[in-house]
Amino acid sequence: MQIIADLQLHSKYSRAVSQKMDLEEIARWSAKKGIQLVATGDWTHPLWFREIKTKLKEISPGIYSLNQDKTDLPTSDNVRFLLSTEISSIYTQGGKVRRVHNLIFSPSIETCEKIIKELQRRGANLMSDGRPIVGISSKDLLAMVLNVDSNVLFICAHVWTPWFSLYGSKSGFDSIEECFGELSKNIYAIETGLSSDPLMNWQIKELENRSILSFSDAHSGPKLGREATVFTCNMKHVTCNITYLDIANAIKQIPNSHLKIGYTIEFFPEEGKYHWSGHRVCNIRYNPQEIKEKGTTCPVCHQPLTIGVENRVMDLSSKSLTNDDLLYTKNETGVSFVYDKDKKRRPFVSLIPLLEILIETNNGSQIKALREYERLTSTFAPEFEILLKKSYEEIEKNAGSEVKKAIEIVRERKVFVDPGYDGVFGKVKIFKDEKSESEEKKSESQPSLF
Ligand SMILES: [Zn+2]
Ligand SMILES: [Zn+2]
Repeated sequence: MQIIADLQLHSKYSRAVSQKMDLEEIARWSAKKGIQLVATGDWTHPLWFREIKTKLKEISPGIYSLNQDKTDLPTSDNVRFLLSTEISSIYTQGGKVRRVHNLIFSPSIETCEKIIKELQRRGANLMSDGRPIVGISSKDLLAMVLNVDSNVLFICAHVWTPWFSLYGSKSGFDSIEECFGELSKNIYAIETGLSSDPLMNWQIKELENRSILSFSDAHSGPKLGREATVFTCNMKHVTCNITYLDIANAIKQIPNSHLKIGYTIEFFPEEGKYHWSGHRVCNIRYNPQEIKEKGTTCPVCHQPLTIGVENRVMDLSSKSLTNDDLLYTKNETGVSFVYDKDKKRRPFVSLIPLLEILIETNNGSQIKALREYERLTSTFAPEFEILLKKSYEEIEKNAGSEVKKAIEIVRERKVFVDPGYDGVFGKVKIFKDEKSESEEKKSESQPSLF
C-alpha cells in the first residue's frame, strides 16, 4: 500500500496565506486530493500550536488526526497529520548574508514545546509569523533541535530557490558541508521545491545518498499536493498504524525500515517561478545557453540577473545527465516514471494538478473548472486516484473524452512548457492548438520530454 504525503505547507498565521487555512480546511482538501499524511505546518506559532493541541489527537506515536467531536467532516477521517514546520534563518557567515529555510519534523507535542522554549530563549519572535525569521544559523538551529530530541528530522527546504535556500544563488551556500560543517551527516534529505525535479538533483554529488523529497509548500487548500512524496509499505492496511518513526526511518533510508520512499510527485520544473534566469521588470529571460553567451548582467538595467535554478544546478553539478542516463517506464495505467539508468534513486512522476487540467479543458473558465473539480472529487475519486490510478475508460466515463485525452498527455509527459523566471511562474499547456502553436513559437516553448 501507498501513503501520499505532503509535509510542507503554511497555516493562516503565515504571511500571504489564505485566511481559510485552518486544520479542518487542510484535512478537507487533503481528502479531496487523496493525500493520506499532511503537515500541520507552523507549529512554532503560539496561536496555531494551541489549535493543534485542541483540535488534533494522537492516534499513533507522532501521528495525529482531527478530533471527531470538533468536526463533522466524514471524508477527512482518514487524513493524518505530522508535526512539521518551517523556520527562516537569516545570518552572516563567511562575510556574506545567508537566508535559508529549513523544515523541522517533530516526533511529539512535547518535543515541539521544548524547541519553542529554546527558540524563545534565543529571542525569537514566534508570534510575528507562522514561518518565523530567526537570527540563528542553520547549523546552530540543527544542533539545537537535535539536542532537544535526536529523533527530530531537519530538512533543507526548496533548496534551489535563489533567495531563501541552501543552494540559493543569492544568499545560500555551495554545499551542505559549507552550511553545516561537521553536522552535515544529520542532513538526510532535501526538498526539491517547485522549480527543480529529482533529475536536476541527481546531478549533485553530495545528494547521492540523501533522500530527495517533494512537498507543496501550499498557502491555500487547492495548492495542496501540487508536489508530494509517496511512501510505500509491503503490508496491507497500515495507514492507521504508521508512526512518526516509520516516516523518519524511510527518509533516513534505514535498512529494513517498515516504510520506504516509493517515488515523488513533481511539477514540471519549468512551471516553477525560478527555472530560468532573468529580470521580471526588465522583461529579460535567459536560458542556460543564453547565460553562457550573454553573461549574467541585465542588458536593460545593468544589474545582476536573478540566476535561475537550472543554471545554478549546472554550476554546482558534478555531472550532467543526458537522456542516455535515464530510464522511462510506464505502469499499468500508462503513467510515466522517470528513473536513473541504474535505478539507484527513487523515481518520479510529473503531473499537472487536476484543477489546471480542467481550466484548460474548460477554455480558461476557473468557475466551471472548480465546479467540475468538486463534482469529480466528490462523486468519482480523489484527485491523485484520477491522475495516477484510474483507467482511461473510467476517466472517459466520468469526466468525458477531453479530460481523458488531457490526462493521457500528462501521463505520457507530452505537455508543452514555457519556463518561469525571476518570480514569474512558467506556463504549461496540454493541448497544442493552432493559436497556442504560434504563441509557443513566439515564447520559445519546448516540449518537456527529455
Ligand atoms: Zn520556505
Ligand atoms: Zn534588469
